[in-house]
Amino acid sequence: MQTDEDILQKHRNLILQASGDGVYGIDADGLTTFSNPAAERLTGYSSEELVGKGSHALIHHSHADGSHFPNTECPIYAAFKDGKVHRVTDEVFWRKDGSNFPVEYISSPIIDNGEITGAVVSFRDITDRKQAEMALSESEERYRKIVESTHEAIILARVSDGVMLDVNDEACRMLGITRDALMTKTAEDLHPHQMGVHREFMASLLATGKVKTDKLSWLASNGTPIPLRVSASVVQLQEARCILFIAQDMREYLKAEQRARKLQADLHHGARVSSMGELASGLAHELNQPLAAMMNYLQACKMLIDAADTGAPGKVLEYLSKAAAQAERAGKIISGLRSFVQKGECNRTAGDLNEIAKEAIGLLAPNATAEGIDFRTIFSSDLPRISVDRIQIQQVVFNLVRNAIEALSTVADAQLTVTTSASNDNSVQICISDNGPGVSDDMLTKLFVAFTTTKSGGMGVGLSICKSIVEDHGGQIRADRNPGGGLRFAVTLPAEVGGSPDV
Ligand code: ADP
Repeated sequence: MQTDEDILQKHRNLILQASGDGVYGIDADGLTTFSNPAAERLTGYSSEELVGKGSHALIHHSHADGSHFPNTECPIYAAFKDGKVHRVTDEVFWRKDGSNFPVEYISSPIIDNGEITGAVVSFRDITDRKQAEMALSESEERYRKIVESTHEAIILARVSDGVMLDVNDEACRMLGITRDALMTKTAEDLHPHQMGVHREFMASLLATGKVKTDKLSWLASNGTPIPLRVSASVVQLQEARCILFIAQDMREYLKAEQRARKLQADLHHGARVSSMGELASGLAHELNQPLAAMMNYLQACKMLIDAADTGAPGKVLEYLSKAAAQAERAGKIISGLRSFVQKGECNRTAGDLNEIAKEAIGLLAPNATAEGIDFRTIFSSDLPRISVDRIQIQQVVFNLVRNAIEALSTVADAQLTVTTSASNDNSVQICISDNGPGVSDDMLTKLFVAFTTTKSGGMGVGLSICKSIVEDHGGQIRADRNPGGGLRFAVTLPAEVGGSPDV
């Protein structure tokens, strides 16, 4: 006849047998009193091998790195010494075959009639969990590295209240504040100067899920507005619906764009001023001759009338003298104007031909690409420096490259090459070669003469301006047939006195 106690004991045994966790008991001396089948399966020891032995010496003797684990430090044994429950997740148990596995265990004291008589230990193999944790932390580390190594600022903020959930270093650097300080702000706090724009942006983002804009800017901690190129999207994370902002600092880009615009304006202005100068100079040349002739004729008339003594009225003589004086005065004004125009204003500084040319070419390279031209630059790396008016020399390069692009507009397989080199005679050279149609022999001899053009809308002053600028710098410009077809313009400029190559 089974007593209640027998039935209870039977139930306990059944639970122990069925449990997936390893369970064993130890007495106050640390000797195993019982073990369940899961404990046998997990450790590789049979119940007979476990029971009556010190469990620490058998399955818990060493740390994961193989170093000795004294039983005096064992949390399992501690349970029947201090009477407390010990839960551990960062140790290993050793199998009979000498291998180990990461374990999570709970060691609970057994108290009988107020006395601690031992402990019961339940444990499980957490290899899978540890591997999953490791994979997760590796993946987190990978994503963190990607986020931190990008040149864009990245901010993750909650849609509901704008609270930041994550920011990268670049965002902190751009705004000039620490991560902790930034994490206390909301997305809205970054645009105190453009609340309207920000709200509009948010409305469109929430409506469409994705927005790209150049209209937003942040206010850095020092009060500087930072113009941005923002690409934002709404993402659903476990914790909340969020906005992922990826923002690029546009300050450098805008500065470069402004510099390019100014350079282009300078070149256009320079071209206009030079064209006017060249025009005035040409006009002066043309007008000087008839003025001088007029003066001669007037003076001859006066002399004739004087010599013939015809008794012409004094007024005629007086007016002839005055007309001659005015013609002379006009001649002087014109030659004064001409020499003024020819001298022009020059602002020379030391510079590097490659850099000077690069800026001018940069303005035209997109045109060349659009025309399908194979545009190459071959720059020598050891050029001596030159002392030049940067804008004027850029204007020369600009004119020559623009002419070449125009000449290549109808050519298939068009090639344009700009080469810089140093010459032995302490000068530098820049060559612009194209494989365009070139020019006739006759045209080749007068390319640099003002008002020579083959273009319907051309003024024919570009090359003559180039020539006067180059010669004004003590250099030379020449045009030759390119061996591969087309023209090759070579501009030689003297190196700066004592100039040495940039290293
Ligand atoms: P424009 O371009 O106004 O005609 P330029 O003085 O710059 O004035 O050029 C004069 C002429 O030289 C052009 O009309 C063109 O006939 C010729 N030319 C200049 N560069 C080239 C080139 N690379 N290939 C062929 N012809 C050219």
